[in-house]
Amino acid sequence: MKNIFLIKIILITLLVLTFVNCNSKNAGLQSDLDNPKLVISIVVDQMRFDNLDKYEANYSNNGFNRLIREGFNLKNNHFNYVPTVTGPGHASISTGSTPKTHGIAGNNWFDKKTQKDVYCTTDLDYENLGGNAYSAKMSPNNLLVNTLADLNRIENDMNSKTISIAIKDRGSILMGGKNANAAYWFYGKDKGEWVSSKYYMNKLPEWVTSFNNSESISKYLTDWNTLYDIDTYKESRSDDNNFEKSFKGDPSVTFPYDLNKLKDLNDGYDMLKETPFGNSLTTDFAIEAISNEKLGKDQFTDVLTISYSSTDYIGHNFGVDAKETQDAYLRLDLEIERLLNFLDSYVGENEYTLFLTADHGAAKIPAYLNSLGIKSQNIEEGTVKNILKNVLFKSYGSNQLISKIMNSQIYLNNKTINSLNLNLNSIEKTIINTLTQLDFIDKVYTSKEIINGNFDSGYELLIQNGYNILRSGDVIFKLKENVISYGNKGTTHGSGYSYDTHVPLIFFGKKIVQGESNVKTKITDIAPTIAKLLGLKKMSNSTGDVLTFVIKD
Ligand SMILES: [Zn+2]
Repeated sequence: MKNIFLIKIILITLLVLTFVNCNSKNAGLQSDLDNPKLVISIVVDQMRFDNLDKYEANYSNNGFNRLIREGFNLKNNHFNYVPTVTGPGHASISTGSTPKTHGIAGNNWFDKKTQKDVYCTTDLDYENLGGNAYSAKMSPNNLLVNTLADLNRIENDMNSKTISIAIKDRGSILMGGKNANAAYWFYGKDKGEWVSSKYYMNKLPEWVTSFNNSESISKYLTDWNTLYDIDTYKESRSDDNNFEKSFKGDPSVTFPYDLNKLKDLNDGYDMLKETPFGNSLTTDFAIEAISNEKLGKDQFTDVLTISYSSTDYIGHNFGVDAKETQDAYLRLDLEIERLLNFLDSYVGENEYTLFLTADHGAAKIPAYLNSLGIKSQNIEEGTVKNILKNVLFKSYGSNQLISKIMNSQIYLNNKTINSLNLNLNSIEKTIINTLTQLDFIDKVYTSKEIINGNFDSGYELLIQNGYNILRSGDVIFKLKENVISYGNKGTTHGSGYSYDTHVPLIFFGKKIVQGESNVKTKITDIAPTIAKLLGLKKMSNSTGDVLTFVIKD
């Protein structure tokens, strides 16, 4: 009798405990009806802040201008680290931290253990889905911390969805993070299709396959001409000039471009990436993803990340001031309008929250600046390597002391240095003395100075925030302003100067205050701000601040 009583007590206790446990679990879910149903992150690859102002009058009312008018425009938003390139850019937006913390130290870095280059999203453990047998194998495993989308899924017990889309693999994979349901990117060559990795799934969903099998992609391989009369493109230089990089098979850099004719010499469907149609294709695919994955259709907030990659390819080829670049932005503006209109009708006006930013800016083409009388220069990292190799050979009798130069960092060959019994400090000193004498270099630092430095501001802080102990180099150099490491046509980015760091940041939609500010904000503020808006717990690895003034009470 006593035993039965005891068993009853135990059973009742267990039942109560289970009930309490269920309740606390539900209380932890972010099924707040007040939350947006969908968060959309839009990254424009290589968008300078001035692209918003410069073409403002040519933009429609309902694209960029609608975001500015109805949302909160942060006009002084900057990257707070170097190198300002695509992989780190996307990882910093998604995680609210910098390469020092999230580990994406460049698009590529050098692995000192294996003595090999590493691409930021390569992962040989996962087969590709789509493309061909030689397609790169990818995953987000090089990211060392969670993204905002990861946190959103985890706190909602995986009831929320995350889908990432970009022409570039890294622009997609690094945004969604480790718990994304899917990341898609574009494979060109002879196929022209959206692809993914077995990291996310075993097979591409039906809707992706049917999109790939339709005419949705090939229809864009026609002519690229200006959207409006070229004479109205007064914000850019003359179309015919010597500063821009032409497509293979057509030495001119003037409109129109016959894509169908040029495609065979320009990697087939990959050519679409380098035209505004890569961005149109991205919107087409994003709209398909929203409706087929039913994003924003239940009480659990979903996340969709879109990165518009084509502006970057066009910017590299034609530069900041080109008619081609202006055309790319005028067309992108209409893509933004199309996306907003679709979100309004599918998810509902004011039922979603969106932000728009960029992964870096860009420098102006050096030859163009020189033609205007502004001193500028392009150098190649190979030049720096040759100069150093000669000097080190003279001093130490070996031309094997440097393993790699990338991202303005020098990776020393420690194995050779040790085996020859050479003094590391003395080699670093020789390198610093040599580099500081070069007219295009401003300053040089050892990794120890950067790691141990106490910097509150300035370029040194940017280097420190971008420096990852596991993945960055041994000596770091800073190029002078308007010096870029690139060929003599077209341009690039990567520095800590404002042309590379100053990018747009607009919050828009549900729970967002309408307004604008010139307060200086950081790229790392985005993720913690959205986390706060969603009522998620604090992002433990984020080094950014919550911009409380953009969130409605
Ligand atoms: Zn980029």
